[in-house]
Parts: sequence; C-alpha cells; structure tokens
Amino acid sequence: MSLIVQKFGGTSVADTEKIRAAARRAIRAQKQGHRVVMVVSAMGKQTDVLLKLAAGVCERPPAREMDMLLSTGEQTSVALVAMAIHDLGSKAVSLTGGQIGMKTDNSFSKARIRSIDTRRIERLLEEGNIVVAAGFQGIDDDLNITTLGRGGSDTTAVALAAVLGADACEINTDVDGVYTTDPRLLPEARRVDVISYDEMLELASLGAGVMHSRSIEFAKKFSVPIHVRSSFGDRDGTMIVAQAESESAAVSGAALTKDEARVTVLGVPDVPGMSRTIFNAIAAQKIAVDMVVQNVGAEGKADVSFTVAGDELDQTLRAVESIVDSIDASGVTHDAEVSKVSVVGLGMADQKAVAAKMFRALADAGVNIQMITTSEIKISALVPREQSAAALRAVHEGFTLDQRPADAKTWKEIKAEAAVEADVHDVVSRLQNDALEALTLTDIAFVGGQARVTLDGVLDQVGIAADVFEEIGQAGIFIDMIVQGFDGEDGRTSVSFTTDEANLEASIKVAEQICEKHAMRGVRGSAGITKLSVSGIGLRSHTQVGTVLFDQLAEAKINVEMIATSELQVNVVIDSAQADTATRRLKAAFADALN
Ligand code: ADP
Ligand code: ASP
Ligand code: MG
Repeated sequence: MSLIVQKFGGTSVADTEKIRAAARRAIRAQKQGHRVVMVVSAMGKQTDVLLKLAAGVCERPPAREMDMLLSTGEQTSVALVAMAIHDLGSKAVSLTGGQIGMKTDNSFSKARIRSIDTRRIERLLEEGNIVVAAGFQGIDDDLNITTLGRGGSDTTAVALAAVLGADACEINTDVDGVYTTDPRLLPEARRVDVISYDEMLELASLGAGVMHSRSIEFAKKFSVPIHVRSSFGDRDGTMIVAQAESESAAVSGAALTKDEARVTVLGVPDVPGMSRTIFNAIAAQKIAVDMVVQNVGAEGKADVSFTVAGDELDQTLRAVESIVDSIDASGVTHDAEVSKVSVVGLGMADQKAVAAKMFRALADAGVNIQMITTSEIKISALVPREQSAAALRAVHEGFTLDQRPADAKTWKEIKAEAAVEADVHDVVSRLQNDALEALTLTDIAFVGGQARVTLDGVLDQVGIAADVFEEIGQAGIFIDMIVQGFDGEDGRTSVSFTTDEANLEASIKVAEQICEKHAMRGVRGSAGITKLSVSGIGLRSHTQVGTVLFDQLAEAKINVEMIATSELQVNVVIDSAQADTATRRLKAAFADALN
C-alpha cells in the first residue's frame, strides 16, 4: 500500500476550522488507499508567541530550556489534529519527536537529525491509524528535547518521507507552490511548475522561506520528490525534483535575505591561518557565514568581510572580538542595516554576462552594491536595507522572471520523458540510519590554469559593477568567480574576478581602461592560480566544512586568495604550485564524508 507524508504548516492549522480541514485532507488520502503520516507545525504564530514569552522572563534564555518551551507548540497541534480525526470518525495517534524516535545531536535550536526509528510509526499505520507527528523536534542521547531550527517541520516531513520510503511528500502551506520570488514581497512573481533540488536549496538558504533549506538537503540526498501546494485548495502546486523547469533560462528565481549583517575584520595580517582563526571562532557557534571577501590592502594587511543572518550578529561579534587580539588585527566594524539579494539558476553556469545583467538591473534602479559574491548557480549582492525591495523588484524584472521561459516544461512532461522517480526504498536501504543528516560530499576537484584580476580603490557608487562586467563581457571574456569586497579604510571597494589564464592580458587591458574611466586606484593581475572545489549537499549549513578546509590549508601554509561558498560548493582560489598538496590534504581530511 502506498505511503504519503502530508505536512501542514502553521497557517494551515491556525484555528479549529483549519485543523478540521487538515484532518479531512488526511482522511481523504487514507480513504483513497494511502497510509498517511501527517507532520504538523505549531498553530499559527505560536512559536513566535513562545519566543516572546521567553524574552519576557530572561534576556538570554538557556538554549535547552528554549527548546523545551518551543516544542510545546507542536505538541499542542498534533494532539488537536488527532482529536479532530477521531471526531470525524477515523483513527489517529499523535506522537512527539521523541515518540517517533527522532534522535538528534545536542545542538539546541539547530539540532541535526541522526536517526529515526520507524518501527512505532509502521506499527501504528499497520493498525489503520493516521500517524500525526510533531514537526521541528527531536531528542538527544540524554533524552533532552531539541528543535531543528525555525521552519524545521519541513525537514521532519522530508526526513520521515525518506526513511519510510514514502511515495509522496506533500508540503501543505499558505501559498499554492514555489514562486520565482516571495509573492508577498513581489505580487508579479510567477508560480513555477517544477524546480530543481539544487535551485531550491540555494533559494531556501538565501531567504526563500517557503521551504526549510535542510529539508531540501534531505530530499536531494534521498531522492524524495516534494509537492508544495496550498492547504486551502486542490490544485497541483510545484514539484521539487532533480530536473529544472527550463534548460535555457539563466536564472530561475530570486531571493532576498532582508535581515543580513556585514562584519569586517580590519587590518588582518595577510599570512596563512588568519582566516582560519576568524572562521573557526564563528563556526564553533554553528553560525553559517556567507559572502566571504578578503581585500588585500597595503603593507601586507587585509580586510576580511563576511555576512551573517541579522539575528546572529551579536553572537558573531562576540566570537570575533574574542580572537581579534590574538591575530593582531586592528579592529572590527559591522553594518546591521543591509540586505542580500540573490539570483539562482542552473542555467547560469554556462552562460556569459549573467552577472553583468544583474548589476545593470540594480544600477538602473539606483541601488548601490556594497559586496558581491558568486558561485556556479547563484549571484549575491549586498545592498542597503532601505533599497532591498527595489533591488528585488529590479532583478526580478531584469531577468523577466514573471514570464514563463519558452522551453519551460510541466511536471507531467518531465515525468513522461524520463523515468525520474528514483526508487526511494532502494536509496534508503543503501544509507545507514545512524547519520541521516551527516555531511555528504560528492567530489573534491581543482581547475588549474586560472588568473585573477583585481581592480583596487573602486568608488562606492551606483553602476560601477555593471560597467566593469559589461565591458569585460563585450570584450568576449568569460569570467568565473566575482567578488567585491567592502574596503574598511576609505569607503572604497575592490573588485576581483577569475578567468582562464589565456584571458589575462586582455582582461588587464580592459580593466585598465575601466580603471582610468572611473578614477580607480589601480589594476593587479596574476596567472598561476587554481580553483579548488569541494562539492556536496548543504555545505553552508554544515559549518565544519569551512573549519576543516581552513585548518588543512593553514597547516600546509597555503594562502587562500579568494573564497566563494554556496550550499553546493565551497571554492577557494590558491597558488597553483600548492594545488596538489591542498587536494591531497582535503581528500584525506574529508575521507569519511566522501561517498
Ligand atoms: P508554513 O507555515 O506552511 O511552513 P511558511 O510561512 O514557512 O509556511 O512558508 C510559506 C511562505 O513562504 C509564503 O507565504 C511566502 O510568503 C513565503 N515565500 C518565500 N519565498 C517564496 C517563494 N519563492 N515561493 C513561495 N513562497 C515563498
Ligand atoms: N513551529 C516552528 C516554526 O515556527 C517550526 C515550523 O513551523 O516549521 O519555526
Ligand atoms: Mg515553513
């Protein structure tokens, strides 16, 4: 008999009527012949209510007690949903995270799932029950209650679908699918029929709150197809699967992280090991950093900038300030009023001038870009928070995301073309059920023969990045990584990009012209560099990847010249002479995670 996991988010169980509607939907699925596992979130905004309650009694509540408190939200709703099912004449049993055997590590408020014991669920299903499981929570080895992080019920649902070998995982929510960007922020956003795991993973981690990003890690790893749909209607929504909607579109979605914060460590000695100290201190707090940019300035000192989620700024500053003296840096600055706008698309990996198009769209809307980072399938720009809505609208328009690409396929067409649904049972049986959310790497590889070009002393003005990358594009030069860093000293920034060694001379020529035109300080360029990439799933949320990488490179006295992180890859640019040593060390250090 087929098994279906149906997740209901907070708005979908916000009041008694909605709870009864959710119950009816599950009963209907059961009557259609499915075994049904429901995963339910706390009612409405109950988690926020509980957070406020805690803030009222304690300035910094102990993490363990916080999880104890927050888990009550889901405990309330599962009991009510089970009661509603009984009242409608069917059998149901509600279960807490502990009762579904959801074992996690002990990092309260962002616990990772280790294993799930499915025996009890299976027995209850066998007896004809609808199982109503509490989302978002688990227990650690000491039986402490843990939570998976805000939005974590999605992860509970997909994890259960994976270990139970479910035929479908439905995410019932208050939108009727995944849109090209948050429809609440931009009404012209378009609902997509299909989106790939990789795109959804990046979008979710860059602010598309419709899915918890870790749920997509699970879905990709275990080949669970996800159906995101509205709780309040019967229309099909969006399928999240391995395939993309369109092969031609460079960009398939845009996202905004409104509450982002920039931190800059000033005057860091430019010797191997300094980044390691900084980022290890942050990773130790399990805080994911993004947009890491290092500007090498005068006298062998560098400014290291990065962004973190706004609500993790205080904790990040405490971590960084604790090590500033030990690395002989001159200080730390931060800006809490910034937002990150990003575009994502599988198609951008092999198309030219996608970045230039984004920067032009922002420039035309009068938006000043403070930092830039890119990776294979995403480009992020840091902008002043008051311009964030304009920035999102500008990039959405710039890539005409409101229009369906001509070659877009529906889920039905994709399904008809290929046998896409992997045998979930088979996949699961190959994975041990004791480290479900462990780091999974797919490859460690390097591309040599690269060059880096840096424009220094770039005025912090609207339109410069657009100009730079349009001119490079017009010269027919294909570029790979781009980083624009915040310059702590005089309000200027520096822009670097990498390209094939063969393009070095031509790139420098174009850069010199731009440099003159915009009164920049100068141009530097060098060949003989290599891009080293660690690929896998959910690399940004597994903060130890950065730690191990920096440790290994620092121990071998290898300087990291540029870095770009995404959910799918961590890329570092190093001197080609050290590429072999670096690759060997990383392969050894990550042997366990490489499959
Ligand atoms: P639930 O409580 O059901 O988990 P969430 O509030 O977590 O619901 O997620 C649904 C919300 O996600 C939508 O109301 C929408 O505003 C927001 N959202 C953000 N980005 C997107 C996107 N790209 N597509 C659809 N919805 C999005
Ligand atoms: N109730 C939790 C939250 O509000 C988990 C979830 O809804 O996914 O974040
Ligand atoms: Mg949610």
